[in-house]
Amino acid sequence: KIKLLKSINEGDLSNDIAKPFYVPVNRLAGVQEARLKLPVCSEEQVIMEAIRNNTVVIICGETGSGKTTQVPQFLYEAGWSHPDSDNPGVIGITQPRRVAAVSMAKRVGHELNLPGDEVSYQIRYDATTSKKTRLKFMTDGVLLRELSQDLLLTKYSCLIIDEAHERNLNTDILIGVVSRVLRLRAELSREDRQKIKPLRVVIMSATLRVTDFTENKTLFDKPPPVINVDARQFPVSVHFNKRTPEDYVGESFKKISKIHEKLPPGGILVFLTGQNEITHLCKLLRQKYPSLPPKATKKEKKEEDQANKLETQTEELPNGQADMENEDVNLGENDEIEEDFDLESDEDDTDIEEGFDKEELGEANQDAPLHVLPLYSMLPTEAQLRVFQPPPEGTRLCVIATNVAETSVTIPGIRYVVDCGKAKDRKFNVETGIQSFEIDWTSKASADQRAGRAGRTQAGHCYRLFSSAVFDHEFEKFSLPEIKRMPLEGVVLNMKAMNIDQVVNFPFPTPPPRESLFKAEKLLQYLGGVDKMSKHITEFGEAMSLFPIGPRLAKMLIIGQQHGCLPYVIIMVSALSVGNPFDQNEAQRQKHIMTFVSEASDILTLITTVGAYEYAGGSDSFCHDHGLRQKAMTEIRQLRRQLTNIVAANFPGVDICVDPKLKPPNKKQLQILQQILTAGLIDSIAVRADVLEAGGGRGARHKNASGVAYKLMWSDEDAFIHPTSVLYVQEPPVMIAYNELTQTPNNTWMKGVTAVEPKWLCNLGKELCTYGRPLNYPLPKVIGEKKDRRIVHVIPQFGPKDWPLPAIE
Ligand code: ADP
Ligand code: MG
Repeated sequence: KIKLLKSINEGDLSNDIAKPFYVPVNRLAGVQEARLKLPVCSEEQVIMEAIRNNTVVIICGETGSGKTTQVPQFLYEAGWSHPDSDNPGVIGITQPRRVAAVSMAKRVGHELNLPGDEVSYQIRYDATTSKKTRLKFMTDGVLLRELSQDLLLTKYSCLIIDEAHERNLNTDILIGVVSRVLRLRAELSREDRQKIKPLRVVIMSATLRVTDFTENKTLFDKPPPVINVDARQFPVSVHFNKRTPEDYVGESFKKISKIHEKLPPGGILVFLTGQNEITHLCKLLRQKYPSLPPKATKKEKKEEDQANKLETQTEELPNGQADMENEDVNLGENDEIEEDFDLESDEDDTDIEEGFDKEELGEANQDAPLHVLPLYSMLPTEAQLRVFQPPPEGTRLCVIATNVAETSVTIPGIRYVVDCGKAKDRKFNVETGIQSFEIDWTSKASADQRAGRAGRTQAGHCYRLFSSAVFDHEFEKFSLPEIKRMPLEGVVLNMKAMNIDQVVNFPFPTPPPRESLFKAEKLLQYLGGVDKMSKHITEFGEAMSLFPIGPRLAKMLIIGQQHGCLPYVIIMVSALSVGNPFDQNEAQRQKHIMTFVSEASDILTLITTVGAYEYAGGSDSFCHDHGLRQKAMTEIRQLRRQLTNIVAANFPGVDICVDPKLKPPNKKQLQILQQILTAGLIDSIAVRADVLEAGGGRGARHKNASGVAYKLMWSDEDAFIHPTSVLYVQEPPVMIAYNELTQTPNNTWMKGVTAVEPKWLCNLGKELCTYGRPLNYPLPKVIGEKKDRRIVHVIPQFGPKDWPLPAIE
């Protein structure tokens, strides 16, 4: 149990300092030469000295200065993680993004000339770790899950928490927990300390915004030393647009064309906000500047297939749609891109050649093919890694990316940056639970980061597709930490599993709104995972925390073992956890979804979809024919296998089906599944607005262009079934449970919708129902309405041993 322990006695550490120890490394000649040019390498002595003498060290340095690739190597060479050294534990490096964890492990393995299991990675669906692992790159979610199993992190001698400036939810929580782990490790008994050395922590950050860590007295006992790595950055000239065009995709197309046709050789990196825009721009560019489309080589294809076959034992903490996958969420009606923009007009910036001398301009080759590559997190990993390969001889590299390319990966050879200045961000309304994904200006810090990407190898240029006035007045200095705009039930459950009962006292680098924490705790009470009185995790909650999925889904999974539904529930929660597998192209989706449709629920439709996919042998062509994203389908399969393994390992006696091919659920099973869904989404029920109305008979339906209005539990706003739902075209049910609320400027939409029989709520949410005025619908009287419109209040406690589903009639 975490106790708040006395502060660390720094003087004591001298006993535990590693003796000098050097591990020889056989680097390839080219590698050694290149790394010595990196700014961080000239600070090796200073950095290692600081790590030896301090429990926590902060390293700040511009992106590309070599932090991620080199600092782990310094530690390795100095004997950390060597079995014969004083610090034999693994060196752990956390990353907010999966792309970075994988690509950095590969890069560092290459630089150290070591096999992939010694320099390994672990992400949610994949791992290369083994007993031989010395360096382990992982997402911060993976490490958070490890923490709830082993609070002392005994496996590790040193932890590098990378990209701390991104202020990701998981990174923030990790820093908070690790500040406590440090104390625990330092205060072990003398005897234990022989076996488990004090932990060292290195926090690495790209920008100078480190005061949240250094000046936060609740985090560390004394402010950790900050080592600034001098950025050997070449100058980047920043060019603002005179105007700020609405259509930044069209504007980037024009800008790229000009750069390519008029300016000297050098790669172009373009920042847009999401997958749709990126694929659209890639298409336009490839049409105008044809080049051989990059094809997956046979070897890549083979690796991909192998990765798919790999037994996955990896875990990762989810937080809703975990791991920065959010940038490509479908925005529904707002997502369309203007097709008919004017690609030729030339009102702005005729002076693109300014700042280049004649000779240089002479090197421009407008007939050279443009090697166009997309980069976003939903892209299959192999395709993502292509940006690191040199472009074909005689072509110009042009990478169109989301903010993935802002700090975590450095693409070689970039000389020009085109920045739309925007990013797609998750917004979360704590009051109503409504999430929305909005495209908005990034921050000044982000814009400067993006510009900096042009000056890695030589002087560069950054073209901002907005005016300097907009930059001055509309851009915040820094982006808001994610913890302030995310639902927290996942992390709160994880904290409770680490026996942190008073979550408000947790040492957050930036505390979230109290209301957010309160809401999360309340939801966990509703779900039965946290005891109402003691705020302590219940036995049911502990079972929930075993699964690397959100608490609602974990609940469905646990009660799913009844009535022989578990294999179906596993499909269901895997699909919900991975996110919508249907391709973003709505027309295509509408056409194909009818193949799989289940009348009662979008989520049950997913079960049929996954089932059909497995029966078709999980083939690419099946995905293509039915408008499904191959990557999502593979991830669903991997998560199914992983969840099945967790059930088998933790719940002996539970009969579990390991064959991915399942018969379609029968009618009775479907009905049970619908109730299991309701039990997990018990705080996300909506009632048709007309049946809530006073009076005897049925009121008129509240109908407008968006459909029939529903009332939500926590908000007064009307909400509507999203047009992509299978229920959209049907007679609207009286009650529904929804998986997701999204907001567009005009409407609140419910996605992932399931019809709910009102009478189920009496069982599934007994305490959550209050007696009241009968609804305008022949219902049992237990469901009612209070003044504040909360239809439902508290969720029943599920007993720890016997987690009952109500009797099914
Ligand atoms: P930082 O963490 O400080 O941002 P990195 O350690 O990620 O810096 O990058 C250091 C250098 O290594 C960069 O110049 C980058 O181009 C290079 N690099 C990183 N990954 C690869 C890769 N997969 N292939 C080639 N070069 C790479
Ligand atoms: Mg880095």
